[in-house]
Amino acid sequence: MNPRAGWLEEFWRIVLLVVGALFAGWLTGNTTVWLLLALTLYTLRNLYNLQRLNRWLGEPKVDDIPIHFGLWGDIYSRISRVNARQQERERRLNRLVDEYVASTSALPDGTVALDAQGRIRWFNDAARRLLGLVTAKDIGQPLQNLLRHPDFPAFLRQRDYGQILETSAPGDSSRRLELRLVPYGDGQMLLLAQDITARFQQDRVRRDFVANVSHELRTPLTVISGFVENLQADERCMDERLARPLELMAQQASRMRQIVEDLLLLARLEAGQTPPSLGTVDVGEMLNMIADECRAVRTDAPQITCEVGSNRKVRGDVKQLHSAVSNLVVNAIHHTPADGHVTLRWSDQGDTSVIEVVDDGEGIAAEHLPRITERFYRVDSGRSRERGGTGLGLAIVKHVMRLHHAGLEIVSHPGEGSRFLCRFPRSHLID
Ligand code: ADP
Repeated sequence: MNPRAGWLEEFWRIVLLVVGALFAGWLTGNTTVWLLLALTLYTLRNLYNLQRLNRWLGEPKVDDIPIHFGLWGDIYSRISRVNARQQERERRLNRLVDEYVASTSALPDGTVALDAQGRIRWFNDAARRLLGLVTAKDIGQPLQNLLRHPDFPAFLRQRDYGQILETSAPGDSSRRLELRLVPYGDGQMLLLAQDITARFQQDRVRRDFVANVSHELRTPLTVISGFVENLQADERCMDERLARPLELMAQQASRMRQIVEDLLLLARLEAGQTPPSLGTVDVGEMLNMIADECRAVRTDAPQITCEVGSNRKVRGDVKQLHSAVSNLVVNAIHHTPADGHVTLRWSDQGDTSVIEVVDDGEGIAAEHLPRITERFYRVDSGRSRERGGTGLGLAIVKHVMRLHHAGLEIVSHPGEGSRFLCRFPRSHLID
């Protein structure tokens, strides 16, 4: 109905009422009383209609509209239309929420929505299965009460959204999970849990294979090396035609032994079989010792400087850290000319502390950086082999750092030099 028509109808009703009252007043000679009576009647009628409207609003159904005409009819039909639109919007929203819940429930990865305090708000079916969450019991609980991995509280607190935490599934140690956090809304987070059991098992098969092959090669190589050494010591083999091949055989056998030893160490580190025997490592002292050792061994080496700007110690394995940092320093020396500089630095950077090995040598081109810590990856394999490199050094460094919860960062530009940073988190530092 045209809203103007309802309004006009009401207007004419009032005019009619007033004119009627005036006419009755003129007939009886008591205009004021009749006018008052008319207005009282009009007010009572409106009051009654307001009360009906109020009752109807309790459950506004189109079929139950009490008045269909006039201004009141207009009001009812407008409210009905607004109400119908609202209901349609709600239905669409509910459909959307249902679809969203159904699609996230179908995801193979566990998804847990957490509020800003890390309490569980919602989770999907996969989270139920992978993390053992139970709707009735766990909604509203802090997630860290339910996931009992020692690193999980720090993982949640740090909110480092690039970080991945690998752990076994709660209540099922044969299942491996990869956890990551994704921010959303106002401080909320999604925890995504991916089942990586198959990948983990394949990795283990590959690791075991390499470790077994390396182990099997160890004895034959020792035997070959022993015989070559014996032959080299034998006077009958001093002849130039035999001496040179024997020297090459000894060199290659020793290189193969070094590769086998590095592969076995890497396999142990990867499997986490050599967990850092947790001691307190005085990094400043360790860096000074490495610098002295390198200066003593290589007199033609670039100038080696040691800068210790932090008193913090690292919770870790001194042997592993010593060998990893030595590896970085030896690499720096090899790739820096004799008139260059290599700096070993230990400093605090905010909450973290960093070991830096900086050189101003040849540097590494950007395309090699993403792969440089892969086993056997070399920028120049010919040169690496020439100086006895196995191509496993940086892979070992990366794994030692991983076992110490430290990150290995590499910044390098060709012609300007390289900077290798081992960054230790607060949780593994001692003041
Ligand atoms: P390698 O036994 O060949 O030294 P690594 O794993 O230790 O194996 O190093 C991998 C490659 O990274 C090296 O072959 C070298 O090309 C490059 N590299 C490592 N450290 C440096 C450095 N400080 N400056 C330039 N290149 C480097």
